Amino acid sequence: MEVKTSLLDNMIGVGDMVLLEPLSEDSFLENLKKRFDHNEIYTYIGSVVISMNPYRSLPIFTPEKVEEYRNRNFYELSPHIYALADEAYRSLRDQDKDQCILITGESGAGKTEASKLVMSYVAAVCGKGQEVNKVKEQLLQSNPVLEAFGNAKTVRNDNSSRFGKYMDIEFDFKGDPLGGVISNYLLEKSRVVKQPRGERNFHVFYQLLSGASDDTLKKLKLHRDFSKYNYLSLDSAIVNGLDDAANFRTVRNAMQIVGFMEDEVQSVLELVAAVLKLGNIEFKPESRCNGTDESRIKDKNDLKEMCELLGIEQSVLERAFSYRTVEAKMEKVSTTLNVAQAYYARDALAKNLYSRLFSWLVTRINESIKVSDAQAKTRHKVMGVLDIYGFEIFEDNSFEQFIINYCNEKLQQIFIELTLHEEQEEYIREGIEWTNIDMNLHLLSNNQNGILAMLDEECLRPGTVTDETFLDKLNTICAEHQHFESRLSKNSKFLNDHSLPHNCFRIQHYAGKVLYRVEGFVDKNNDLLYRDLSQAMYKANHSLIKQLFPEGNPSKVNLKRPPTAGFQFKASVGTLMKNLQTKNPNYIRCIKPNDKKASHIFTESLVRHQVRYLGLMENVRVRRAGYAFRQAYEPCLERYKMLCKRTWPHWRGPEREGVEVLMTDLQVPADEFSYGRSKIFIRNPRTLFFLEERRRQ
Ligand code: ATP
Ligand code: MG
Repeated sequence: MEVKTSLLDNMIGVGDMVLLEPLSEDSFLENLKKRFDHNEIYTYIGSVVISMNPYRSLPIFTPEKVEEYRNRNFYELSPHIYALADEAYRSLRDQDKDQCILITGESGAGKTEASKLVMSYVAAVCGKGQEVNKVKEQLLQSNPVLEAFGNAKTVRNDNSSRFGKYMDIEFDFKGDPLGGVISNYLLEKSRVVKQPRGERNFHVFYQLLSGASDDTLKKLKLHRDFSKYNYLSLDSAIVNGLDDAANFRTVRNAMQIVGFMEDEVQSVLELVAAVLKLGNIEFKPESRCNGTDESRIKDKNDLKEMCELLGIEQSVLERAFSYRTVEAKMEKVSTTLNVAQAYYARDALAKNLYSRLFSWLVTRINESIKVSDAQAKTRHKVMGVLDIYGFEIFEDNSFEQFIINYCNEKLQQIFIELTLHEEQEEYIREGIEWTNIDMNLHLLSNNQNGILAMLDEECLRPGTVTDETFLDKLNTICAEHQHFESRLSKNSKFLNDHSLPHNCFRIQHYAGKVLYRVEGFVDKNNDLLYRDLSQAMYKANHSLIKQLFPEGNPSKVNLKRPPTAGFQFKASVGTLMKNLQTKNPNYIRCIKPNDKKASHIFTESLVRHQVRYLGLMENVRVRRAGYAFRQAYEPCLERYKMLCKRTWPHWRGPEREGVEVLMTDLQVPADEFSYGRSKIFIRNPRTLFFLEERRRQ
């Protein structure tokens, strides 16, 4: 029987970019386009999967496809995300290697869909049985819940994840799932109070108003009409192809499967309703004869209803919106809030309420899906799936983009480090000499004194701290230190450029130059919630909300500042990187073919840009720097034995010797290949094409 190597047979374009000849950015793009035009959305770079978003449903994710890819070797069939999932799962199950699936790409490129495809593939091929099926269902159903609360329609993606997610799925020694743990990274909470033009708030608000029964809405004191709520943008409230009402039912159902109790669901919905009410509280100025500007709540009905929902005494919350108390050295000083401060306090409360609710949901899901104590003691294996926001360059970039890009910078470094490492490991395993590949790639810098640390220093400094003082500090230090780039990660640079607008700084990231506007950096990093508000929330007669504001407990007065947003993010990214480094990485690099969310359109410039900043050409070069192609002896002999009289039709010795005979008889130059323990390594794709050519003759 002939061994199929679909990467070479009947292939549209080249299935593995490593075999591309000649290799250039243009030929790379041409190959992607050709394959995309023929509905081949997956292409490999060695073991890395490039995934193009088709923006329509293709018939390649059926149960039959799952069967086709199950237990097959990676290169046997045409490139598919299932091949990667299968390889990762089998190596976890049979070789006891923890795996991680790293999915990257820009907004709308298909990361979340890819992560779900991987999860559903693994769910389909792993063990069955009542208990196992329940675990699988819970793991899968955590997705709609988190998407409802953490995703939103943006201009780039109708279902954009506004948080980063890493999920560890844990398996027993047989490869059956036991449970999982989800970590979430920095929800974009500013969206709760304000959305950019053409974008929406988080899905759950619209789902609740569209899909809940009249009775539920009445209990939550809500109207169906979106236009009644200040926090809901109206210009794009209805999204084509998005059925909020049906999705609400899906989410309710998913919450039930995951294991939420009815009263917990009710509490969650009350908090969602409370955020909407909060947005409707408005303030008006009131001048006092002593010259201070105070604010008054315009119409107290929304405040009243919000307090009823959360079991808060109205006067307590009203006071918290009027005063700010600062405690210092056993002394309490209260100052009145003016209108701007009152709105600031209101929005800060809404953002905190919602983001803490989101974190609580993650914790609650984790409680349901966690591996039981008894099972935790037994040996188990882990597959981690990372679906995190991709690199962002907007016209207006702020703290959020800075944080996201910082994370991508780290991921890119780990990608390079691990791909090289993986290559090296394979060479060592196969007994092939490893010559160091100097690709001018810098490894991870452990220098923590980056911009985030500088921002923290500034935020904690006594005295008046503003965005401008932070920027001054940044510029001064940058001017003093010629080698400032060492204070960032190694392959990004602070660009000192006097032509910049006065409130901006620019960074050369691996993926491009980004201009950041400094406005809001200090505030967002501080992430302050006036103590009066957290204390008011803590007084609520509502167990969930009380739980979300533990710092409001007056008996736990803690004068220490909570860690800044930047500090927390940096710490969680650090933990994530450490975790990823202990696992065998599998990469899915997602690409968005056009900016119109449309099928069949391949915008070359857009794809070229992504190919560049995902470092895909570099990736191919690393793969080709040593040996471009490798194949186990048995399939190699099967495929090419017809080319040599001594091996055709039967070779009776060890396969490796058969391959040696083949190479000698075909007079392939000796420096073109190496014999590894189980595989032959071919240096140049041309050698492979030569063999293929001979087969066809
Ligand atoms: P973000 O960073 O904004 O969260 P993302 O990379 O997670 O973006 P997805 O939400 O996965 O992007 O994909 C965007 C949309 O593209 C999906 O809602 C879906 O309509 C379409 N899409 C993505 N992948 C596929 C696929 N394999 N088949 C069909 N449609 C897809
Ligand atoms: Mg997503």
